[in-house]
Amino acid sequence: MTYFHRPLTDLPVPLAAIVLLLAGGAALAGETAIDPADNTLNVNPVTTNVSDPNSSEVQTATDIGVSPAAAGEPEVPLADAVAAAAGLAEPMYLLNTRVWPGRSQRLSWSATELFEGVPVSTPVLVVNGTLPGPTLCLTAAVHGDELNGIEMVRRVMHDLAPEKVAGAVIGIPIVNVQGFRRGSRYLPDRRDLNRYFPGSPIGSAAARIAYSFFTEVIAHCSALIDLHTGSFERVNLPQIRADLRNPDVVTLTQGLGSMVVLHSTPTAGTLRHAATLAGIPTVTLEAGGPSQLELNEVKHGVKGIETLINKLGMVKKNRLWGAPEPVYYRSSWVRADNGGILLADVSLGSTVREGDRLGTITDPMNNARTDLRSPFSGRIIGMARNQVVMPGFAAFHVGIQTAEAPSVEDDEADEADMVLSDAPSLSSDYLDGMSE
Ligand SMILES: [Zn+2]
Repeated sequence: MTYFHRPLTDLPVPLAAIVLLLAGGAALAGETAIDPADNTLNVNPVTTNVSDPNSSEVQTATDIGVSPAAAGEPEVPLADAVAAAAGLAEPMYLLNTRVWPGRSQRLSWSATELFEGVPVSTPVLVVNGTLPGPTLCLTAAVHGDELNGIEMVRRVMHDLAPEKVAGAVIGIPIVNVQGFRRGSRYLPDRRDLNRYFPGSPIGSAAARIAYSFFTEVIAHCSALIDLHTGSFERVNLPQIRADLRNPDVVTLTQGLGSMVVLHSTPTAGTLRHAATLAGIPTVTLEAGGPSQLELNEVKHGVKGIETLINKLGMVKKNRLWGAPEPVYYRSSWVRADNGGILLADVSLGSTVREGDRLGTITDPMNNARTDLRSPFSGRIIGMARNQVVMPGFAAFHVGIQTAEAPSVEDDEADEADMVLSDAPSLSSDYLDGMSE
């Protein structure tokens, strides 16, 4: 990557500083995000599309001088990165440490300090291959209660033999270590870290943590998979969220094997948006729900990531994974119109037709039952766990079948259609904390 330069030293980092407390506390009841817009310091208006109704992201990115990838500058497509890499593999300089080719190493990133001044550090796993190639990064638990990605990173990283890798893989199992310890999606100040990338060195706590992570780690990546789950007792079918207008992002989606792809334009503040803007093609991999380790979802994600590593040519194992899943260019959340006990009739991945009953909501006081029906034909790509809901609660996420894939050049028109349809507005999506 040529867009980003920072002074590098190769002082060894004390590995004893790695602190990882696995005994996380219980999630705080009734916890909600505060409005990141109150972080007024150095918040610039953004120029990117914010009308994506699939996204709850809001525009809070701060300009830290990371310039977008130079338009039109000839670069090797990600798909050819291994073949185009010439010469010998080089040492990687990361977090004040030199990682030699052919080595696996555990480093430590410290973003911030506790009140008593103790640094909070989290492991950064590095596999630097013996052959040259791209650097693929895997991030998990940007939301501290999303556990499936943590296990995906562990499995992928420990399956890699550096002497057989072309390029490098960097895995960060727990980005939001403070949220993880508390079993919470958020940072201790109740901010959502994934609304603050690429961050700012003089902003809020969230902006500073985002800035540190982005400059110290993410800037070293050639491509990034950000691992998430559904939020607030909702679960997602394993799926990729990707901006299909970016050819390198398309390469990532095609490499990930049998996984549903949902076209979604990233909104400012997310890691996906900030990294892609900095020239690092990024997708979000969503699988399962929060606060649980779901092994089927973990295996699905690991299989996808290992297929990608294979397809990029970084490992020659020929472990390729079957038929691609559909790409959805549109999706919509079906919301409850009544309060009560939500019980689903469908399961994740179910194919539904317009008018099908997705579930029922029963008023526990008067026993009145209402049906929740799908306004679209499509597939259930996300849904709430059975629970008590209020009117307006987003219960089922339907990937909508389109007769033919709209051209991505028509993206603005598509999004206008989506807004006209039953899709929720950006603000309600944001407040519901749905999506990455
Ligand atoms: Zn998330």
